Amino acid sequence: MIQFDFSGQTAVVTGGTRGIGRAISEAFLKSGARVLATFQGNTEAAEEFQQANAEHADRLLVKQCDVTDYDAVEELFKFIDAELGVIQVLVNNSGIRRDQIVGMMVQEEWHAVIDTNLTGTFYMSKFAVQNMARKRYGRIVNITSPIARFGMPGQGNYAASKAGQVAFAASLSKETARRKITVNCVSPGFIGTDLIADLPEERVEMYLNLVPMRRFGEVDEVAHSVLFLASKEASYITGTVLEVTGGL
Ligand code: NDP
Repeated sequence: MIQFDFSGQTAVVTGGTRGIGRAISEAFLKSGARVLATFQGNTEAAEEFQQANAEHADRLLVKQCDVTDYDAVEELFKFIDAELGVIQVLVNNSGIRRDQIVGMMVQEEWHAVIDTNLTGTFYMSKFAVQNMARKRYGRIVNITSPIARFGMPGQGNYAASKAGQVAFAASLSKETARRKITVNCVSPGFIGTDLIADLPEERVEMYLNLVPMRRFGEVDEVAHSVLFLASKEASYITGTVLEVTGGL
């Protein structure tokens, strides 16, 4: 694994206890950062993650926080401000799918996905920017998706939320550039996590055939890219999207 040095830094990873987020949290821990990993409701996975990383217990915090709840996010940042001080990294990773063709999509399926993937990114980023601005340094990385570029039947809500994250990052990056807060996106291709575990076999086969490398990506391959954009070394990269898709 590429070794970055995040010692002395604090990274907040939403949805940081499962799937891609867990790999990101663990990569930050291995690189010396203090990590605050949040989750929504899967306490069992959160506890398992915390136990598996017991060797880093002095630098690992796990907190439940629903990113769609503005008050909960504000509370989270009150805790961060009081207990952790200024943070250096925010990874907006939490995300969901509720696939349905547009003609059949109910409002709940639309709003749940937009609220989690896009509005959650706004809530977290708003408070993170306020926190980071105090030391005029920061790295925000949103986990978007190539579906934002090319769309997918049944994913109008998901594609719109992910494209929104890209547009949001581009705009925010311009607001924060002079304070040395960079805002970028990592766009993973198909990664074998719980998020896509429900896909039928023929859909998996179809997706594999779309990928020039003919394989799904590993969570660590996404985590490496996030750590790069979150590193001090990526100081002149902002408002962009790093594709980690096997050529998709
Ligand atoms: P998982 O389903 O494995 O994990 C999702 C995480 O998000 C969980 O930790 C979950 O918490 C958290 N989460 C969901 N809703 C909320 C909420 N309202 N508030 C706070 N946290 C929440 O997904 P992946 O690891 O696969 O996906 C991570 C990100 O990567 C997502 O943004 C996804 O869209 C994106 N992505 C994934 C791809 C893939 O192929 N897997 C491809 C491209 C992008 P809890 O554990 O409590 O349920």
